Amino acid sequence: MSCDDVIEVMKVMYQKGMITVLSGNASIRIGDKLFCITPSSVPKHKISQLALVDLDTLSWSGPKPSIEYRMHALIYRNTEAKAIVHAHSPWTVLATELGLELDTRRYVESRYAIQKVSKVPPLEAGSWDLARAVAEKAKEADTIILEGHGAIAYGKDPWDALNKLEALEYLAKLEVLKRERK
Ligand SMILES: [Zn+2]
Repeated sequence: MSCDDVIEVMKVMYQKGMITVLSGNASIRIGDKLFCITPSSVPKHKISQLALVDLDTLSWSGPKPSIEYRMHALIYRNTEAKAIVHAHSPWTVLATELGLELDTRRYVESRYAIQKVSKVPPLEAGSWDLARAVAEKAKEADTIILEGHGAIAYGKDPWDALNKLEALEYLAKLEVLKRERK
C-alpha cells in the first residue's frame, strides 16, 4: 500500500460517478504521526502529488491538502484506520434525503464489506464541526453518511474503504429504485 493507491482510488471514484471533478478526497496513514491526503483544487483524475499532514500539529508539506484534512486527521486519531475515502455518492445522498432505511444486511456487498453505518446531520464542508461529528461516529462505525453531502469510510487500505462506499452506494441505489417501483 502506498500513496499511489490514493491517486488510483480517486480516478476510479471519478470514473464511476461517485465524485465530481473537484469533490471527494482520500488519504493513507503513514506511520504513527503522518498521513498523505489528496490536494485541494486539483482535478481528481489528474492528481500527481499528495499533501503530507502531521497528525498532531496538522501542519503540512507539499500541495495544500483537501479542505477535509481535519476530518481525516480526527478519524485517524480516534480509530485504527489505515486509509480513509470520502465520496459524494449520489444514491447514498438521495436515499438518505428520502429517509430510506439502509440495512446493510440486506444485500451481499454491504453485508460483507461494512461493519456499521452511522450518520451525521448536514454540517459545513471543511469545518471543525463536521470533522468532530464524523470522528465521534467513527469510534463505532466504519462507514458514515454525511447528510446532504456524501459518505466517508475507513479501512485497512484505500480499496477496502472504497469497497465500503461502493457497497453503501449499491444498497442505496437499490432502495431508491425499489421505492420508485412501489
Ligand atoms: Zn465532501
